[in-house]
Amino acid sequence: MALEFRSVTKQFATGGGRNVLTAVQDISFKVAQSEFVAVVGPSGCGKSTILSMTAGLYQPTSGEVLVSENLVTRPNPRVGFMLQKDLLLPWRTIVKNVEFGLEARGVPRKERRERALFELERCHLTGFENHFPYQLSGGMRQRAALARTLAIDPDIILLDEPFSALDAQTKLLIQNSFAETIQEAGITTLLITHDLSEAVIMSDRVLVLSERPGTIIHEMAVDLPDRAHPLARRQLPEVHRYAAEIFDLLKLNERAA
Ligand code: ADP
Ligand code: MG
Repeated sequence: MALEFRSVTKQFATGGGRNVLTAVQDISFKVAQSEFVAVVGPSGCGKSTILSMTAGLYQPTSGEVLVSENLVTRPNPRVGFMLQKDLLLPWRTIVKNVEFGLEARGVPRKERRERALFELERCHLTGFENHFPYQLSGGMRQRAALARTLAIDPDIILLDEPFSALDAQTKLLIQNSFAETIQEAGITTLLITHDLSEAVIMSDRVLVLSERPGTIIHEMAVDLPDRAHPLARRQLPEVHRYAAEIFDLLKLNERAA
């Protein structure tokens, strides 16, 4: 099992320690090696908190988080994290941005460069190595950020709404390009998104969370072919059925709350 949450609850102290806010409550799920799981749920239900606990940035208040059968107790260098903002360093070229994480790990210069060029090719950015981030489109910058994440050879990639700032057409192309690359690399992935169709076309499974405190109200297996090609998947009529079903679950939960 690549990732497992066992009855995880996370609380934060608020109001200078006078109040307790429960972000997620009694969450349990498993993600297999190379599986792609999407997480959807209302704003503030603890989606980003789940990713932070997976990365080891936060510890659960109770319960356990395991990555590759090991209890997560500190930040894990083999977990890659990508956000809506690409966080590329503006004063570094694209290839130097991709090398950044490898520098921090003391990888020798030649090996660093080779790795970075390999990842840039994999992310279809050959020819842009020596450009600066401001010279690239939003979609290309997200691909460069993916190349940087892949360069550290992660076991798991965490994607926190990485496509939400892109225009509709770019978004479809970048979803496809990410899906292909991630499938080929065989990396276990958790994707947070507000876009229910995106969740369906990109994943093997969708976790549907309730309003805060976030609990898992449903786990939906996406029984569709060709996960590496969301552009093709989106043509399938079942996509709309799955998305509508998730929408209804979220709506029902909202009324109950
Ligand atoms: P989501 O990503 O689903 O929108 P988050 O995981 O970011 O939700 O946040 C869940 C809840 O926990 C929110 O109410 C948020 O304000 C709170 N929260 C998140 N991080 C912290 C923190 N470091 N300190 C206090 N409260 C936090
Ligand atoms: Mg969030």
